[in-house]
Amino acid sequence: MKLYNTLTRKIEIFKTINPKKVSLYSCGPTVYDYYHIGNLRNAVFNDTLRRTLELNNFKVSQIMNITDVGHLAADNDEGEDKLEKGAFREGKTVEEVAKHYTLSFKNDMLSMNILPPNAYHSPTYNDNYARATEFIDQQIEMVKILIDKGYAYITHQAIYFDVLKLPSYGELTGQNLKDKENGARKEVITDKSKKHPYDFALWFFAVDRFQKHSMIWKSPWGVGFPGWHLECSAIIHTLLGDPIDIHTGGVDHIGTHHPNEMAQTQAAFGHKLANYWIHNEFILVDGLKMAKSKQNSYTLKDLAVKGYDALEYRMMVLQAHYRKELNFSWEGLEAARNRLNKIKSIAVMRFQPSAFNDSGVSAKSLMECLENMQLSLSNDLNTPTALSQLSEIVNSIESLGLASGTKVQYIKFLEKLDSMLGLALLETKDLDNTLQAILKSRTNARQNKLWNVSDELRIELHSHGISIRDTDQGQIWFRI
Ligand code: AMP
Ligand code: ZN
Repeated sequence: MKLYNTLTRKIEIFKTINPKKVSLYSCGPTVYDYYHIGNLRNAVFNDTLRRTLELNNFKVSQIMNITDVGHLAADNDEGEDKLEKGAFREGKTVEEVAKHYTLSFKNDMLSMNILPPNAYHSPTYNDNYARATEFIDQQIEMVKILIDKGYAYITHQAIYFDVLKLPSYGELTGQNLKDKENGARKEVITDKSKKHPYDFALWFFAVDRFQKHSMIWKSPWGVGFPGWHLECSAIIHTLLGDPIDIHTGGVDHIGTHHPNEMAQTQAAFGHKLANYWIHNEFILVDGLKMAKSKQNSYTLKDLAVKGYDALEYRMMVLQAHYRKELNFSWEGLEAARNRLNKIKSIAVMRFQPSAFNDSGVSAKSLMECLENMQLSLSNDLNTPTALSQLSEIVNSIESLGLASGTKVQYIKFLEKLDSMLGLALLETKDLDNTLQAILKSRTNARQNKLWNVSDELRIELHSHGISIRDTDQGQIWFRI
């Protein structure tokens, strides 16, 4: 299997730390607002990675965090805590805000058919996500180590990681600190005691701008709350053990969040955080990044209002390679829907004896298609090529039907497709009894050469969203 590693800027042959096992960490949501469909591209990318690893027989241990404290409005420690801001906006407590948006996030994951992380179960929340607030002690422990080893210093406002103490700082971006410093000069720096603009907070004290912060904990250095980057390093260290094989996130994490995570672990434990760093590109709207702050974002609810299903959006995302920007448009979503519907039409052939015939697509061709798709996915998650390979066989099945006696293999083929792409093809249903009865009447009408009746029944089926193709074996139905 090959994957693009942001760290080396190359596509590399994927090698695991332990044979056939993969530890995977994916930075999760900050639960202060609804997830938009840009965020959901990150979820589809993580899910495709997980499914492809499993397809290649790796046993994957995946952790995803939920940020419910410490993520400030800007990644460089400026602005307010997003959760506190959300609570103020809605006149609720931070806990209520976190609960509401976490539930919404988990619903989105279900609708998009995203596999839940599998290497942790939260005793407090009874789900598989690791909250920042569940790992406060472990974060404090890491701060202790960083102070003891001389990588952190304390000011009146916060405890900072001292980036100049770690020569490898910033290796993910390939920029050196001098270049970065020039870039950072214009930024607002709230804490004048910060030594370097790229030093980042490990712990904020509940003073000055954070005097009224509601989520605070005791620490050996004073009451406060952890900085955003720390939770990921502490959770990984506790639940997976570092280094891990793969760490993922959106490309916006390459500049600040991920270098900071890397630095904390390297400094505290003397080794790398992860061997492979993989990042998905953005969803754009009219050429601009989709973001809550730009007011150009859509949620799954917005899509549903226009009649689009979450899996149709999943299809849209899969049509583009995860490392290429993807422009969201309603036309693009409509095209994805049509493509998915065509595949679903083929999936319902499993219910129809008339779809199997002597000249249909063979079991061998089905197997070959799956093998080719697996090769494409294993080549840095090339979903567009995998889908073209699928479309080819879908076209053949549509025009030729399936070879006689291949029903069992055909169901296995659909199962395998579902495990690769998560498009829930096996959830396509057989016709209900009423429609079956119409279909049967039409068969009888045709046997008795009652062509007018047959045509009328065809129109009736069409009004129920069913189209009919007549073949030598009999009629085959498709959902429109
Ligand atoms: P956040 O909750 O803001 O931390 O975002 C959750 C995930 O979505 C992160 O991995 C981000 O990198 C990713 N993300 C944010 N905006 C977009 C976008 N427009 N397109 C794709 N991914 C995004
Ligand atoms: Zn993270």
